Amino acid sequence: MSQHKNYEWAVIGAGPAGIGAVGKLIDNGVNAHNIAWIDPKFSVGDFGSKWANVSSNTKVDLFIKFLNASTAFEYQNCKQEFALQKLDPEQTCLLKYAAEPLQWITQQLKKKIVPIQGWVQSLAMREHYWHIILENRQVKARNIILAQGSEPKTLPNYSRPAIIDLADALDPEHLKQVVTQEDVVAVFGASHSGIIAIRLLLEAGVKKVINFYQGPLRYAVYLEDWILFDNTGLKGETAKWAREHINGTPPKNLIRIHSSEENIQKYLGECTKAVHAVGFSRRNIPIEGFEKINYNAKSGIIALGLFGIGIAFPEETVDRFGNVELSVGLWKFMSYLERVVPVWLKYSN
Ligand SMILES: Cc1cc2nc3c(=O)[nH]c(=O)nc-3n(C[C@H](O)[C@H](O)[C@H](O)COP(=O)(O)OP(=O)(O)OC[C@H]3O[C@@H](n4cnc5c(N)ncnc54)[C@H](O)[C@@H]3O)c2cc1C
Repeated sequence: MSQHKNYEWAVIGAGPAGIGAVGKLIDNGVNAHNIAWIDPKFSVGDFGSKWANVSSNTKVDLFIKFLNASTAFEYQNCKQEFALQKLDPEQTCLLKYAAEPLQWITQQLKKKIVPIQGWVQSLAMREHYWHIILENRQVKARNIILAQGSEPKTLPNYSRPAIIDLADALDPEHLKQVVTQEDVVAVFGASHSGIIAIRLLLEAGVKKVINFYQGPLRYAVYLEDWILFDNTGLKGETAKWAREHINGTPPKNLIRIHSSEENIQKYLGECTKAVHAVGFSRRNIPIEGFEKINYNAKSGIIALGLFGIGIAFPEETVDRFGNVELSVGLWKFMSYLERVVPVWLKYSN
């Protein structure tokens, strides 16, 4: 296994959270040559690939704010014209429109830092350095920011009928290739992803959709300078569709059933396929000596010189009514980084 230069910082993951983390390290004075950035593809993570054709729940102006939030991004110098800039800032959009300029920023950052293409297999701390084990090499860094993202969860007790991958369920073109007009499809969950899946299945012309839900639909409420149910409520096009077709007049081939065990036993039998839209869980990167990762959800600190950001390590926030939520979204990652990176620099190895 070859040894390479020792870095001050390593960022693992090049999705939106990793992009933001690299930008904010440089903005806070870390020498870019001392930053290693590790990702298998450098193509804006799941955001830029799996979710590209998903309708956003945040407005265009928040994506634009993200692009302009780091001096290191140099987005002001970008000569390329992206479709995002021409969209109505007050509307939502497909995530691919935000991914295009993020890909441009990735290319700019890659010229400044040290990009390492690969998949991190494990981490270990020895003599003030984190040892980062990749497939065919080892990298040493004093400090690490984990931004490895999360995978959609599935319900292990309901592995039948066959599960449609959530990425396919949320992409209209992919979905048309995996369902037929004979399919009766179960959808577990009724948050943003669940509602998009229901809508796309109906539009793809399946015979019936049976939605197993846990509670009433929740909508985000836009108040003067804050949003109630900002992270848990339906927004944008998805909220509009749900108000009309679920709280309003549901299509005849959409059945909604409370997801009690009894109901699931009763109705799942007739389903030929299923979509599990039941949340996300962090991608695992084993760390020597850590049975499981406990991170501080107010500061992103995991251990000395080890920090987490992004959908894998969301900030726990409390709104004005006292509701506790986990904050996920590009602008939320950025404003969190602005607060925590100066702290991380002081909690470094
Ligand atoms: C359906 C859906 C809709 C969403 N809509 C919005 C929206 O409208 N607005 C918004 O702001 N946010 C939205 N989000 C939320 C959020 O912005 C995305 O989930 C985003 O992809 C999270 O970014 P991330 O950088 O944390 O993770 P990811 O985008 O998943 O990136 C993680 C990166 O880390 C890499 N990686 C993982 N493990 C390793 C390893 N061991 N070694 C090296 N690299 C590794 C991965 O390959 C990937 O490139 C949405 C999310 C989903 C799922």
